[in-house]
Amino acid sequence: MDVINGYSQQPRVEFEGFTPEESMELQQAGVFVGGLEQIKAWARSNSLWPMTFGLACCAIEMMGTGASHYDLDRFGIIFRASPRQSDCIIISGTVTKKMAPLIKRLYEQMPDPKWVVSMGSCATAGGPYVRSYSVVKGVDQYIPVDVYIPGCPPSPPALIYGLNKLQEKIRLEAKGKKVPRT
Ligand code: SF4
Repeated sequence: MDVINGYSQQPRVEFEGFTPEESMELQQAGVFVGGLEQIKAWARSNSLWPMTFGLACCAIEMMGTGASHYDLDRFGIIFRASPRQSDCIIISGTVTKKMAPLIKRLYEQMPDPKWVVSMGSCATAGGPYVRSYSVVKGVDQYIPVDVYIPGCPPSPPALIYGLNKLQEKIRLEAKGKKVPRT
């Protein structure tokens, strides 16, 4: 997928039976082709509401991604302050053993369907603190992760790319395709 300044140049949805160019043309004309599940997935993937939840330095990049320069809103991604209103959680930072049960509780408070993004090497595998007695070596020991974004910290375009992959995954799963974790 071509990404310029974190923005995908591909059509946001590829309709079955249409080439990517035809899909792009239809979308530009405001036409959507698909079944009910696909339309629901299209709506969900284009209105992801991640919970505001920063754990360490990666959270600064996450906040920068949401600010005006990178402008996550253009993808329909708008941060919410409550797990009850969120369908996505971005684990951005170091997960300590003390914090892990609370992350799990917050995840359980989110309504279904819900998705998890592991942002940065700390959240994915402990990062520079991998030898620390107090750090969890991967948040996926507590909650299921859909997309992993490498880096220390990942840049805003990397986070946008990861979120684009999550949107793609939501749409593909609605077509009954099994999508491996990215
Ligand atoms: S991965 Fe690096 S930037 Fe992110 S929380 Fe860990 S130490 Fe900080």
